[in-house]
Amino acid sequence: MNRLPVLIANRGEITIRIARTCRALGFPTVAIYSDADRFAEHARYCDQAVWIGSSAPKESYLNAEKVVAAAKQTGARYVHPGYGFLSERPHFVEACEKAGLIFVGPSAESMRQMGDKIQARATVDALGVSRVPGSKGAVANGAEAAKVAQKIGYPVLLKAAAGGGGKGMRRVDSGAEVESAFEGASREALGAFGDGSMYVEKLILEPHHVEIQVFGDGKGGAIHLGERECSIQRRHQKVWEETPAPILEKFPKTREAMFLSALKITRGVKYSGAGTLEFIVDEKGNYYFLEMNTRLQVEHPVTEWVTGTDLVAMQLLLAAGEFELPSIPERRGSAIEVRLYAEDPHTFLPAPGKIGLIQFPSGAFVRSDTSFSAAGEVSVHYDPMIAKISIWGRTREEAMERLRVALDETRVEPPRSTDGLQVGSLRTNLTFLRRLVRHERVRSGDTTTDLIEKSPELTVPLEVQVTREMAIALALQHFVQVSEIGSKIQNLEGIRSSWSLRALEEGLRS
Ligand code: ADP
Repeated sequence: MNRLPVLIANRGEITIRIARTCRALGFPTVAIYSDADRFAEHARYCDQAVWIGSSAPKESYLNAEKVVAAAKQTGARYVHPGYGFLSERPHFVEACEKAGLIFVGPSAESMRQMGDKIQARATVDALGVSRVPGSKGAVANGAEAAKVAQKIGYPVLLKAAAGGGGKGMRRVDSGAEVESAFEGASREALGAFGDGSMYVEKLILEPHHVEIQVFGDGKGGAIHLGERECSIQRRHQKVWEETPAPILEKFPKTREAMFLSALKITRGVKYSGAGTLEFIVDEKGNYYFLEMNTRLQVEHPVTEWVTGTDLVAMQLLLAAGEFELPSIPERRGSAIEVRLYAEDPHTFLPAPGKIGLIQFPSGAFVRSDTSFSAAGEVSVHYDPMIAKISIWGRTREEAMERLRVALDETRVEPPRSTDGLQVGSLRTNLTFLRRLVRHERVRSGDTTTDLIEKSPELTVPLEVQVTREMAIALALQHFVQVSEIGSKIQNLEGIRSSWSLRALEEGLRS
């Protein structure tokens, strides 16, 4: 079939992921790039690449006019927005349509109806799906927020209507804090999203974040592709996503009810393409609608692993008018994704920089989505994610074991000076992820959204851990030397192979 070009309005790992499926289906690809991405892999990967502006996102990837102009100039027929940047902006959908381009995603109307958090709450109310209790719409000021909070009971969350990535969100425990929290959160939201409107939600304690992947045909037909649990978060942002959701293994009836709610919403708004309905599930198995992401999600690979589908292929075929809604796919086995970031593993603050060495795991059940294959640079201008590593196993235990090995095989290091020392600003959360996969609560599936906060051992700096482990090791050594029974201990390997000691050695080596 003679297929027309797809412009991918994004960068890095996302562009490569989408371009790979375009290639498989025979769609020529067009990349866009900014100054900072002049030598980026994603621009080389596509059939054509267009420079669209300077490094600041506003001047390039967030500039709808420039993106549309690049599509027109290259003869592209489709625009795939990826995720982030312009992917949830209705005005961008309209700009594409006005220029005669086909936007690969939902209509501008669906985006307004579901992408806007306050509007989405009203939509699900009308459809009879339960959402987190809270204000009906936006609240104008601290006093109004306090009134709602009084009614639903503290603690509450003040949330930005235009929020994303955990920005513009504040926990409030009492009436005395409302005013200043409102001011602060609203100011933060205004700065980050150009919109300071706020709403109030009851804070669900010890919650699980569970989301349902859906796909609609735009005519009222829709399927779901199972759930993902993304409860392991730092700064309200996901670092670990998996399916099946451990919490729903305990509450299978909740899972079925959530699927029905997700389908009700997707069909109800005649949604077109890939979308995700996010819910909060409490310890008793109650679930509440949180928001909808009207786009492909970062964590879509775990769904692809267990359903054997290619969500990007479904999106492209729907846009090209060649799509027929399949039946709800069966889900097989278990899949986990972790996000490898250029960030400090103790504070989670971005730590981008030049990469000297990078190596990803390989094997039949591991997938590394990245735009770095050789030395490159994690740019200060964009999201500091280096890669997503995902794994499939027949069971959760098997997936966890495979992930443990995969993370041990992964290497990302800054460049070295001529005398072999690591130089530069790059740091990664690799040691943190290695701790996570070995953590007892993670292994047992007891994963609430406050897990990281409540597990300081995950983030304690290596040096502190080193001191503790060294003290134990020295004490043991002393014991072996001086005691009678100690002399009978032949083999110290058992102690040496404990993970923290290996981490210690690794830390000391690097
Ligand atoms: P964003 O769009 O900024 O990511 P979300 O509404 O998706 O904001 O919330 C992000 C995360 O914050 C959720 O995954 C959850 O961990 C937490 N959260 C949000 N709302 C609530 C709530 N009402 N109660 C408890 N936790 C919440």
